[in-house]
Amino acid sequence: MEEIRKIIHIDMDAFYASIEQRDNKKLKGKPVIVGGDPHSRGVVATCSYEARKYGIHSAMPSSVAYKRCPYAYFIWPRFDVYKKVSRQIRDIFYRYTDLVEPISLDEAYLDVTNNKKGIKYATQVAKMIKDDILRETGLTSSAGVSYNKFLAKIASDYNKPNGLKVITPEDKQEFLDTLPINKFHGIGNVTERKLRNLGVNNGYDLRQLSINQLESIFKNRGYVFYQLARGVDDRKVEPYRERKSVGSETTLSSNLDMNDEEVLDILSEICEDVSNRLKHSNKVGKTITLKVKYDDFTKITRSISLEHPIYKAEDIRTSVYNLVKNLESNKGKIRLLGVTVSNLLENEKNLTHITIFEYLDYIKESTKQ
Ligand SMILES: [Mg+2]
Repeated sequence: MEEIRKIIHIDMDAFYASIEQRDNKKLKGKPVIVGGDPHSRGVVATCSYEARKYGIHSAMPSSVAYKRCPYAYFIWPRFDVYKKVSRQIRDIFYRYTDLVEPISLDEAYLDVTNNKKGIKYATQVAKMIKDDILRETGLTSSAGVSYNKFLAKIASDYNKPNGLKVITPEDKQEFLDTLPINKFHGIGNVTERKLRNLGVNNGYDLRQLSINQLESIFKNRGYVFYQLARGVDDRKVEPYRERKSVGSETTLSSNLDMNDEEVLDILSEICEDVSNRLKHSNKVGKTITLKVKYDDFTKITRSISLEHPIYKAEDIRTSVYNLVKNLESNKGKIRLLGVTVSNLLENEKNLTHITIFEYLDYIKESTKQ
């Protein structure tokens, strides 16, 4: 029989807001909203539990939050501080296991089946991690302990804040049967409505549907729901690996000479793509590399390192065109072109001049790190 895994999901409680309350005594016990200005088109990133009592929640427009609680403290996010704390927490996780999968700045899955301390019970590991976090950062967290990711995540949400909940293989079914349908992983508003129309309101109802019924309604996802209702989730905890470079390449539909004007157009498109990918991962880079493959399958790469990091398509293009100029033009027909940006750094955006949409993107991206 396969070994039963020990998975922990750790989720910090009202992370950004708790840090603000920690760092500023007058905010303790008060409704605190971290996010955009209430008199602009900003949104709530996180709010304290005191603010949640007014029905305020993340992604709500700050102006709406203001109407619900005009006395709340509105705080502009300090992402540099949140990231620092996030790193501190991650270092605590690594004392226990290298199998750490961060989901956002304040949330991670840990596989502690074979933990570094040789502790037998995952619940004990979770308790120790929570204690370490509180002692070293002054912040509370909630932990869910189970034998897979889905159940561990559900468990961490169970009695927040400062919660610790275990779901064992023995009590999983009872737990799942009473679980509201919208709490199941991957069930959004649309799917929830569909299921409720079918009279499916909780895990027990979901378990009454056959695999054929589920697949005819939800295609491939039907199988996932079938498994979740039975507490089956085989997804592994995937440890985070830092991105070392961002690149893109294109195999040409017909082979070209380096002198053909089309080459520059294709490279320009590739630069555009690389730039988008950099923006998406919120990175900037200092080293630009051009890769060329010829029809005899020989390959060359040429790099340039800049003093200042870049991410804009036009800047990458300028560097790439310079690299092209210095290539020998008579090496043969080209069959593939690629551009890579490496030597990456975090893109420190000026948050005071961005729109609501960029702001939302920024929150989304920075929580991915
Ligand atoms: Mg959280």
